[in-house]
Amino acid sequence: MNLPDPALVVLVGPSGSGKSTWAGARYRRDEIVSSDALRGVVGSGPHDLDATGDAFDLLERVVAARTGRGLTTVVDTLGTDQVRRRAWLARAREVGLPAVLVVMDTPDAECRRRNAARDRPVPAPVLAGQLTRHRALVPELGLEGWDVVHTVTAEETSAEPPKASREPAVERRTSQGLKVVLQVSRFPWGEDPLAWLTGVARAADQAGFAGLSLMDHLIQIPQVDRAWASIPEPWVTLGAVAGLGTELELGTLVTPVTFRAPGITAKAAATLDVLTGGRAFVGVGAGWWEREHAAYGLDFPPPRERLDALERGIETMKALWAAGTKPHDGARVSLPETTCYPRPVGTLPVIVGGTGPRTLRVAATLGDAANVPSARPALDGYVETLRRRSESVRVTVLDLPTIGTDREDAWARVERLRGRTAAAAYAERTHAGTVADQRDRWGGLADLGVDTVFLGVADLDGADDVERLAGLLA
Ligand code: GDP
Ligand code: MG
Repeated sequence: MNLPDPALVVLVGPSGSGKSTWAGARYRRDEIVSSDALRGVVGSGPHDLDATGDAFDLLERVVAARTGRGLTTVVDTLGTDQVRRRAWLARAREVGLPAVLVVMDTPDAECRRRNAARDRPVPAPVLAGQLTRHRALVPELGLEGWDVVHTVTAEETSAEPPKASREPAVERRTSQGLKVVLQVSRFPWGEDPLAWLTGVARAADQAGFAGLSLMDHLIQIPQVDRAWASIPEPWVTLGAVAGLGTELELGTLVTPVTFRAPGITAKAAATLDVLTGGRAFVGVGAGWWEREHAAYGLDFPPPRERLDALERGIETMKALWAAGTKPHDGARVSLPETTCYPRPVGTLPVIVGGTGPRTLRVAATLGDAANVPSARPALDGYVETLRRRSESVRVTVLDLPTIGTDREDAWARVERLRGRTAAAAYAERTHAGTVADQRDRWGGLADLGVDTVFLGVADLDGADDVERLAGLLA
């Protein structure tokens, strides 16, 4: 392509057709006069539509002044306004500059895709209008009298695809192909909660865990600790972990749908996703512990209603995270619009926790993954049920082993942790053994098709204990 230079160059194309990218790759910054950029100069930013009038006043003055000096001027606007286009053409004639029209010929679907991927997409109906107007306009442009009409095809724009703003995250998996996420359920953090949390998260990252998950409970559950033990609000806590800049995936296991309106969970998770560069996940469940609901003034309806709410909750979250802002009219939920910004970076996985037949069905049909206990042979049955309904739903397990440095140490831990349970029963239930024993057992889980192990250890007191587990991740 050899366009005259100096020249007055006028761009025509809908949002996302690549006008600014094309101009930016070929002209100096000062040669480009852009209505979006000027909205940012005289208004609050490039999208400040209230500033359009002032921005165009300024744009016309810049065009007049630059062309008056015979300087190359590239006009970066939608270019659809015929009156303005004709005036620019007349101006070029007046000052004796070649008049060049650059017409973007990017497929509609590509414009839509790029627009949707933008931080602030143009609303879908607005873009649709631009696309229609552009198509109608193209045949007329050749008749307007421009010295050069240059069409930029998709090939030409694709020749220099902009670099992805983020490298795709590399998934951390063990040699057995398992993803291992550290499940933190106890918070013996003493006087300095943030220091403790920082230590645990950094150690988990260092050890090679793929992620870190938190329980979502309002009162510490009896299976883990006393009711007066600290159990922090997980989304706030994960926000603090996000600030550490680790490579860990972060999320809850699991958030009861009864705690927060699902739209609010969608918002929290989307926020966490952008803060972590796309490494958030949401565990969801129907909730099971009446006491914490009563204590916090929350309704705790019967199971059937909670499962209904779980289905509606997943549908709501997925609708809000989807591209664009269009109304959602789904099987269970209707929303007049789905304006949820920031949008998640990528697909935000929903992991459905629970083992009831209906919960498994919800996981397989509405979720991305199911979370069930790791104990066999019950696990084999859950996997079979899930696979009957879905080929793709990921199977994740909650694994709560007792892990010792050797047989002796494992047994000492059993003795310390077993409470009133008989030692042999506790050892069996918690698969008491060494790191090597756990790896052997996990091999069986991998063979069964388990994708992710959420690993919780009852005696995780701090960062040192996380380091002790590193051998599991080799
Ligand atoms: P404009 O609205 O017409 O000014 O479009 P932009 O130049 O701002 O481009 C819109 C989006 O599409 C931006 O995110 C660009 O990075 C992207 N884009 C522009 N040109 C290309 C291209 O040739 N290939 C690809 N893959 N993306 C592009
Ligand atoms: Mg632009």
